[in-house]
Amino acid sequence: MNNQEADQYLLHTYNRSILFTKGEGMYLYDDQGKKYLDMGAGIAVSALGYSNDDFKHALKSQIDKLIHVSNLYYTEPSVNAAKLLCHATGMDKVFFTNSGAEAIEGALKLARKYAYTKNPTSGGEIIAMEHSFHGRTMGALSVTGTKHYREAFEPLIGGVSFATYNDLDSVKALMTENTCAIILETLQGEGGIHPATPEFIKGLRALCDEHDIALILDEIQCGMGRTGKLFTYEHYGVKPDIVTTAKALGCGIPVGAFAAVEKFAAAMVPGDHGTTYGGNPLATAAICKVFDIFKKENILEHVNTIAPYLVDSLNTLAQKYPNKIKEVRGMGLMQGIELSVPAGDIVTKALEKGVVLISAGTNIIRFVPPLIVEKEHIDMMCDVLNSVFAE
Ligand SMILES: *Cc1c(COP(=O)(O)O)cnc(C)c1O
Repeated sequence: MNNQEADQYLLHTYNRSILFTKGEGMYLYDDQGKKYLDMGAGIAVSALGYSNDDFKHALKSQIDKLIHVSNLYYTEPSVNAAKLLCHATGMDKVFFTNSGAEAIEGALKLARKYAYTKNPTSGGEIIAMEHSFHGRTMGALSVTGTKHYREAFEPLIGGVSFATYNDLDSVKALMTENTCAIILETLQGEGGIHPATPEFIKGLRALCDEHDIALILDEIQCGMGRTGKLFTYEHYGVKPDIVTTAKALGCGIPVGAFAAVEKFAAAMVPGDHGTTYGGNPLATAAICKVFDIFKKENILEHVNTIAPYLVDSLNTLAQKYPNKIKEVRGMGLMQGIELSVPAGDIVTKALEKGVVLISAGTNIIRFVPPLIVEKEHIDMMCDVLNSVFAE
């Protein structure tokens, strides 16, 4: 196999680069055996790094038992995973999906069903945020705040309007008697690593309470320990009505979920929603093991210990290259540097020097490493960035 062959058969929706063949801890290896330090975690997915023995054994033993039976039956891993996720999120009921976008689809349907149950003529309007990212399926795309992602695929689902992130008044201005949900990322990822202000999150909570509508927090990227709490809304002392998770939830096994508090969850009845694969025993065994390893290996504690070192290191770089780095921002191990040069060039040069980074938008480098990252890896990355910026 070569990269040309890949481009011949794979739909060209990504400009792929390296051909990776294996991973170990914080490192990836290409087909030539070259080693790369991974600071992107496959877009904030591989929280445990690569080839974690405990994780692999749990998956292999589940494969030996049962991979799939559909949601017409009970399975132990799905119930265990649902219980763990309810406890972790503070929600009451969980629905497992196969991806982040599908978790968003379900969350939107649930919010609309709740409003419909109260009043069948409710308009089901949704307020989303500019610069948000919620996924590529039609519903998720409809609430994604980047126009050029949406435009070619219209008409999307109706009744969506976009407010300005961190501007409570802009949300209030869009509220109507038909509004059924406000959806946002607790920390915007793809849109450029923008954390929410406490006033904004708390203000939205109060607004949703006042109107009895759903506050949907998308924690697909910022959740599962990335910002130093299991879910980022915990930093704000606020609980959503519906939360979406995916990415690091399965640490590489494709799985997502939306979870809701009882009041909203009760709106869904048999026949309202479904999935053939969602939450199958293999996927949910992965979730159970992820939670187990997080606990055993004190992952949250580690994130809180190591994140300040990443922030300090990035600030040191920013001080050294004020003409190239405009700002460092983020929470925990979800950091971004805003550049005055194209991020793509920096990412490409870092890759040549053996460091995997990902961008967010055109001028932001996003740092979402495996949560097992150590100081030595951050030093190594900064050395490479230093030499790239110096060129
Ligand atoms: C990645 C992402 C999604 C979409 O997840 P997929 O698994 O790619 O469908 C949705 N919301 C946020 C915040 C994301 O980062």
